[in-house]
Amino acid sequence: PIAPLAEVVGAGEKVPLSSGDVVRYANLDYAASAPALADVARAVQCSLGQYASVHRGAGHLSQVTTARYEAARETVREFVRGRVDDAVVFTRGTTDAINLAAHITRGDVVVLDIEHHANLLPWSARERTGSSRLRVVRAATTIEDTLAALDTELASSPAALLAVTAASNVTGEVLPVGRLAAVAHRHGARILVDAAQLVAHRPVSMVTHGVDYLVFSGHKLYAPFGAGVLVGRSDWLDAAEPYLAGGGASASVAVDDATQSADVTWHRGAARHEAGSPNVLGALSIAAACESLTALGFDAIGLHETALLARLDRGLDSVDGVEPLRVFDDSTERVGIAGFVVAGRAPRELAEFLSDRAGIGVRDGKFCAHPLLRRLGFPNGAVRASFGLGTGSDDIDRLVDALRQLALRDARSFVAGSSGAGG
Ligand code: PMP
Repeated sequence: PIAPLAEVVGAGEKVPLSSGDVVRYANLDYAASAPALADVARAVQCSLGQYASVHRGAGHLSQVTTARYEAARETVREFVRGRVDDAVVFTRGTTDAINLAAHITRGDVVVLDIEHHANLLPWSARERTGSSRLRVVRAATTIEDTLAALDTELASSPAALLAVTAASNVTGEVLPVGRLAAVAHRHGARILVDAAQLVAHRPVSMVTHGVDYLVFSGHKLYAPFGAGVLVGRSDWLDAAEPYLAGGGASASVAVDDATQSADVTWHRGAARHEAGSPNVLGALSIAAACESLTALGFDAIGLHETALLARLDRGLDSVDGVEPLRVFDDSTERVGIAGFVVAGRAPRELAEFLSDRAGIGVRDGKFCAHPLLRRLGFPNGAVRASFGLGTGSDDIDRLVDALRQLALRDARSFVAGSSGAGG
């Protein structure tokens, strides 16, 4: 058996089944939102006990909170190995961070057709109001050919940015970020990496891989909802108008009586795009999560997840009618995500069966990646099991057992049905 690697909040919670039995809840929906690490919850509790508004007051508490908030930026920068002069902007999440990126980017943007909507719709929304185009490139069936397709696209016409996911939220497949960055840079483009599904599972180095912008959400990194981050080069951020106008983003404001207008000098750096009282507790919780994962070590995290993923893949493979979702024939690495369909079963029906009969939480649907589900041949959706640090082999085994039971039942009713028809 494989034990959970870390304590998460809510582990051991009991849920009722339709049979009336009560079982331990098996949370296999980490890719949607990972439960908070117990260490993170403790850090948040501690921050709740003592905070004040940042960047505003001379009082002790305000100064301490400001220092902790600014230190959180450094913790995040270190966690993703950002450059010393990169800005670390706290946002509401990945979606918000990519909308910020869309706000500061001038020129064409190239994406793949396997992206989460968060890395597609901000660019297409911006296209409607501006002159720069969104160019969606069809991912090939191999990573090699996909890199070649991006190379051809970027060579054919200049683009400002290549925006790609580091790990698919549907299949878990990991993309080679360093090679993608090299393709972008070869053609004078920058790269933005949607690391929402990667940062909890693999170490990231923006410096080593040449990543210009990196975004992720706290709630997929064992921290609570409501905070995320964009780390990246300052020049585009400083050249753009503030993403959100208001107090905190402005260095000085004067009202010109003659023109009856406000004359504003905006801050440079992260503050320029963080108007209003920021989500300090969100930022501190992300920093706490970065510290917890670093302390656990990505070697241990990788070993734990690889063992569970092998067990899950083997299990799914052994059940009749289960078909795994994959984009690439040559992908060698996946995070703890398994997207699949079961022949003859609607995804929702399957997810409800797993919940009602076995107390297992999985996600079903189109995972905010409609183009990807369509190209995989499942326009009506699929099921996704995903896991992380609080998962043990028992959770995986329960999923496989439940699917096996369902397949057996289907087989029996098929036999009963055909003998009935014969008789
Ligand atoms: N990108 C990817 C790859 C994701 O999996 C998600 C969340 N499902 C997002 C972006 C959006 O993240 P958020 O909802 O936290 O903004």
